[in-house]
Amino acid sequence: MSTSTQCNIVFFGECMVEISGSPLTKKFGGDTLNTALYLSRLTQHTDLSVHYATGLGHDELSQNMMNSWQLEGIQTHFVERIANKLPGLYMVETDGTGERHFHYWRNDAAVKYYFQFDGLNKFEIALTDNQVDAVYISGISIAILNDDSRERLLKVINLFSNQGGKVIFDNNYRPQLWTTEQAQHWYAKFLPLVDIALITEDDDLLVWGNFESVQQRCLRLGCQEIVIKRGCEPCKVVQAKEGIIEESYVSAIPVPNVVDTCAAGDSFAAGYLAARFNGEIAREAAELGHRLASTVIQYSGAIIPVSAMNHLIKN
Ligand code: ADP
Repeated sequence: MSTSTQCNIVFFGECMVEISGSPLTKKFGGDTLNTALYLSRLTQHTDLSVHYATGLGHDELSQNMMNSWQLEGIQTHFVERIANKLPGLYMVETDGTGERHFHYWRNDAAVKYYFQFDGLNKFEIALTDNQVDAVYISGISIAILNDDSRERLLKVINLFSNQGGKVIFDNNYRPQLWTTEQAQHWYAKFLPLVDIALITEDDDLLVWGNFESVQQRCLRLGCQEIVIKRGCEPCKVVQAKEGIIEESYVSAIPVPNVVDTCAAGDSFAAGYLAARFNGEIAREAAELGHRLASTVIQYSGAIIPVSAMNHLIKN
């Protein structure tokens, strides 16, 4: 992949309102949005355009959310505004021992209705008409939808993939949103369409158990490029090229004082993709993933100040 000509990637997922801290402060966050935002920052001087597709309401919070994404260089024309619905919300509470607890109000969030239009939504039109070159979804993007919407998402990604579009998937698994059986069922349907699989080993174990390795499963289902993230341990990069399997390990960067691992995997994904879209090889891409993730975990919260990552932004 290269950005020698204009290239467009669209993320589909949910961004929620976050209430956290003392005094309570309002922020915005969600796994795919975090990755989109970091990718947008990293590639701001390149020909890569980052788009975010989701459902929002007509309310002021939704508008503020969209404005904040635009300030980060994220394009928002695939956002659908859903009548009488609001974005989801979560609250982060820290107990006396410093342990954080997350409470969610997301069951009726606007994004759940994104695939419930009679006609195609803006994301479906973009993928059908090849308006974008790559699409990024996570396990959470699938989990938040009902089965009919999951089928619609699958159908359009299948079409997009058949037309040569690149599909990128992060396996983020949230057991509160669905059962392991449901996750297995849908991951097995989506994985054969995936070009780059970014897999958190811990989440994979929760979904599939250990009867088969991540690598075996992804290769069996047809993924050609797999990155297995393993916290502070080296990540494993696997590529299948003309029947030959290339494997390598890329060491994480030691961080003596980890402040908050929130968005570690999301930012890793952004670093990895920024490098891959810049034409770098997978190993180098994993290095940029580690460099960004190791920076992000030295700050509190999912999104760090851009000034803290200037050294990683290509001019
Ligand atoms: P996720 O956040 O999706 O659960 P991981 O925990 O595997 O994913 O972390 C993703 C990336 O974040 C790792 O590949 C690594 O680059 C970085 N990372 C996470 N935890 C640490 C740590 N303790 N020390 C250094 N790097 C870390």
